[in-house]
Amino acid sequence: MKVKPFRNEPFTDFSKKSNLEKQKRALASVKKQLGKTYPLVIDGKKLKSDGKIISYNPSDKDEVIAKFYKGTKEIARHAVESAYKKFREWRYVSPEERASYLFKAAALARKKKFEINAWMIYETGKNYAEADGDTAEAIDFMEFYAREMLRSAAGQPVTSIKGERNELIYLPLGVGVTVPPWNFPFAILVGMTSAAIVTGNTVVLKPSSDSPMMGKIFCDIMKEVGLPDGVLNFLPGSGAEVGDTLVGHPKTRFITFTGSMEVGKHIYELASKVQHGQIWLKRVVAEMGGKDSIIVDKETNVDVAVKDVVASAFGFQGQKCSACSRVIVDKTVYSKFVNKLKTEVEKIQVGSPIENFGMGAVINENARKSILNYIRIGKREGKLLVGGGKARGNGYFIKPTVFIDIKPDSRLAQEEIFGPVLAVIKSKNYEQSLKIANNTIYGLTGAVYTRNRKKIEAAKKHLLIGNLYFNRKCTGALVGAHPFGGFNMSGTDSKAGGRDYLLLFLQAKLMSEKI
Ligand code: NDP
Repeated sequence: MKVKPFRNEPFTDFSKKSNLEKQKRALASVKKQLGKTYPLVIDGKKLKSDGKIISYNPSDKDEVIAKFYKGTKEIARHAVESAYKKFREWRYVSPEERASYLFKAAALARKKKFEINAWMIYETGKNYAEADGDTAEAIDFMEFYAREMLRSAAGQPVTSIKGERNELIYLPLGVGVTVPPWNFPFAILVGMTSAAIVTGNTVVLKPSSDSPMMGKIFCDIMKEVGLPDGVLNFLPGSGAEVGDTLVGHPKTRFITFTGSMEVGKHIYELASKVQHGQIWLKRVVAEMGGKDSIIVDKETNVDVAVKDVVASAFGFQGQKCSACSRVIVDKTVYSKFVNKLKTEVEKIQVGSPIENFGMGAVINENARKSILNYIRIGKREGKLLVGGGKARGNGYFIKPTVFIDIKPDSRLAQEEIFGPVLAVIKSKNYEQSLKIANNTIYGLTGAVYTRNRKKIEAAKKHLLIGNLYFNRKCTGALVGAHPFGGFNMSGTDSKAGGRDYLLLFLQAKLMSEKI
């Protein structure tokens, strides 16, 4: 199969009126489809159950986006068993055919881009550009992993020995359970699931209960491009209720999780227990939280640093694992930085993402409560510079909030808040800035603003961060260019969107023949 080299999907330019109109038309069309009920899909069969999961619009909390029949423990067991049966066929389908489904699905997602964006804007509260970036990333994952599968299928070179024919090939693992978060509701879900499928595994997908519609959209696309029934099984359900059944099932071979550290640790522990009848050690790919820092050195353009810190901290309401939640500023430029930061943050307008406001609502009531609690803690641990509470609207709106003079070991500087709250920390010098940046249990993303080459080299050497950027924001990783994954409690450093990723879903088989 001949394919063109991978290129990232371009982002839609919403400064063009025609694109803005297309997005608004898609939103109007989706609005008419809100509130319907959808089934679970196991082995191609539509199933109903007694309970329902209801997905709401976080920016207008009484508006129902969709309802889904809810997975039960019994349905979860049935899903793994039936995926296990299907695996016996799917594993022998050629890599070229498997890759072809991803290429077709990427093309279809590209065609439906404005519609996918619209559902995401309604279901998770992303503004137009954030939703569009998410959809583009999902397309990238499919295009990239399809190509990677073709590359891996060629096998790996082994040392040649006289009198032997040696060959190393990659085989799929078995049934995978994919458990994505709601914050990149399409990109991460599509990335984790399509990687598992293209490598020849079958999948039970349990979408986040905050964004099940995005999972349904992906499953519909895969069905439309002809993916055989049973390869991808759609099981919405509460993580707490069906998660343990899926993870603990003896026929589950691997789990691909992206979400919070607490849930990640729980899955890791449960998966490590060998169940009765289980004949393998389960593999767990777990990408978890972050407490990401930007260092602002005295040798830098403070205006540029402020703009990028604001984008990194408040894009999608700070609900990105890569979001900057701590900025560590050299004392020489501290006051200048803080003054400019205040001015920039005050410009952010909070409002409905359906009308494309810069900052929308946070995902749900629990998230808002937890963030408001951190705002209370911040008021004790530092000085409130700007924001500091709820914002108006019939959704979970919070003002973009900044605290200054935060101590590096305080709760605000250590715990993942996952919302629009930024802690500003003053440092004595660059050396201390590096130490502060390394002082959490996480190690996901970070950025350093400095013109000094030696300081850049020192950061490369000392910072324990999976994705480290210089003189640019710490969000917005691109598939292929910035493979993504963190150290320590940020996860297993799987480097999604990179050349090592598919190996996590494969096992190598060596064959040696005497000739
Ligand atoms: P959660 O950990 O709350 O949920 C993630 C997924 O796990 C959801 O689908 C959830 O289902 C499910 N789940 C919950 N309990 C269980 C269980 N016992 N067994 C199996 N599955 C379970 O995270 P969020 O969705 O709130 O996502 C935000 C978090 O994700 C942040 O910490 C963020 O940093 C992290 N993240 C990390 C990324 C990375 O690449 N490192 C990227 C993006 C986000 P349900 O919704 O039904 O509870």
